[in-house]
Amino acid sequence: MRRSLPFVLLLAGCAAPAREVARLAAPNPPVAPVPVPDDPAPPGEVSPLPPAALPVVASPATRSVIVVTIDGARWQEVFHGVDRDRAIALGLSPDEIVDGRALMPNLHALGDRGVVLGAPGVGAAISASGPNFASLPGYGELLSGRAPTCQRNDCARIADETLLDACRALPGATSANVGVVSSWETIELAASRSRDAFFLSSGRHHVWRAGALRDPTMDALLARSERAFPTPGQLDYRPDRLTSQVALRYVEAARPRCALLGLGDADEHAHLGDYRGYLRALRAFDAFVGDLVGVLAAQGEHGATTTVIVTTDHGRADGFVSHGAKHPESARVWLFAAGGAVPARGEVALAQPAKLADVAPTLRAMLGLPEAPLDDRSGRVLGELSR
Ligand SMILES: [Zn+2]
Repeated sequence: MRRSLPFVLLLAGCAAPAREVARLAAPNPPVAPVPVPDDPAPPGEVSPLPPAALPVVASPATRSVIVVTIDGARWQEVFHGVDRDRAIALGLSPDEIVDGRALMPNLHALGDRGVVLGAPGVGAAISASGPNFASLPGYGELLSGRAPTCQRNDCARIADETLLDACRALPGATSANVGVVSSWETIELAASRSRDAFFLSSGRHHVWRAGALRDPTMDALLARSERAFPTPGQLDYRPDRLTSQVALRYVEAARPRCALLGLGDADEHAHLGDYRGYLRALRAFDAFVGDLVGVLAAQGEHGATTTVIVTTDHGRADGFVSHGAKHPESARVWLFAAGGAVPARGEVALAQPAKLADVAPTLRAMLGLPEAPLDDRSGRVLGELSR
């Protein structure tokens, strides 16, 4: 999602930090604080844990959804693993050149328990609508269920109702258990058509409704985020190692009905041409997926009835570093889904091409939410994710 300098200056001028800490009239019960480590592990230094298993219930239904995104992670590494030529050129050892399943074991374990769309050679592709395959258009399409009118990263706030906006109508939904946690601050513009509708922590300083959680651990994590450097991003970007901790604590404390958890280091390293850093970001993201599954597994029926979707906002150019309108191959994305009503089918062949815009209508249908108004920008329900 890296931006050119004019965009940087424009966004820096219009996206002032906003911390909203007012308590709601009917807050959630307090959550027991847990120790916050002084110094989180550097990116890439993640322990190789065995893949965690999603809980299984006899009659699964989807009552909650969590959309997890990794910015600009292309299908090539997700499915085929480390690029051999790049690895050799960088001097990586032979045991570092692994396939997709070894590179991202938790993600593939999730797919084994659910559905994988967009695997190469398996049916039709899933793509961003574009035609400019950039981050804010991608997130807007994913969350609104409509092909984007926004084609740049400096668009205004989304005008369409998003999945998260719609989730506020679910029984039991509050401004605490609908939420967004992301590394890239600008995701807030795609998350909701309102500015402060629910919990949000995007980048290091964009925070809304944190008080609704009544969670001292979250308050401590957010305070530490404010002091961090944005590397490998810019401006108000929050590194994934911190965003991951905020996101996991959010899921623990809020038991979200609907959430977007968005990491971004992979795209930042790719724009810098740093393939080693990109691989580290993929591995760290995979560890985060494993940790998230573990948190949900400890949440009993709530975790078992939560559908997790993992996807990306765009692919990458054949040259790896870039993406966008000049690189039509960067349209291609991928999707893993599991939990709740999603059947265990593994890699599924799409009968017709799918779009990121299809995700929100599919999740709305799973949750029993009414359809969004239909027009020629609307996505369709993906029957492949249902029983
Ligand atoms: Zn990018």
